[in-house]
Amino acid sequence: MAMRDECAKSLLKKPSTLLYPFEKYESIPGSRGKIVINTLESSDSKCIGCGLCIRVCPAFALEMIGEGPTCDMKWYAGRCVFCAECVDICPRSAITQETTYDLADSNQDGLIYDYKRKSESPGDVTE
Ligand code: SF4
Ligand code: SF4
Repeated sequence: MAMRDECAKSLLKKPSTLLYPFEKYESIPGSRGKIVINTLESSDSKCIGCGLCIRVCPAFALEMIGEGPTCDMKWYAGRCVFCAECVDICPRSAITQETTYDLADSNQDGLIYDYKRKSESPGDVTE
């Protein structure tokens, strides 16, 4: 009897799941998602190419192209474990972590984010 009641109740309830990717959850504030590296030359918090983020990254998800303050950066979303170590260690606060979680791509190249020096906007991405 109890089981039948439960089934009847469930039939009348809205599903707890969403039809992803057609329906999406709002990102939860404070959740760990996409990594953005500010390489904009005019910014006070731009990357200076010290390499600390690369040294602490446990997943080898960051790469410096070039050296020092003129370097470009790459973030490999497919390797990242979203630990935020890079965000915490950056002496220039040049790395931010957005709440964007929807980063999946059917193409591996779509998981590589290029943060080029002198880009027009912070975190300008070339895929
Ligand atoms: S720690 Fe910050 S300043 Fe240093 S290389 Fe990484 S992003 Fe650039
Ligand atoms: S969040 Fe963690 S795993 Fe991802 S790039 Fe930063 S240090 Fe590496």
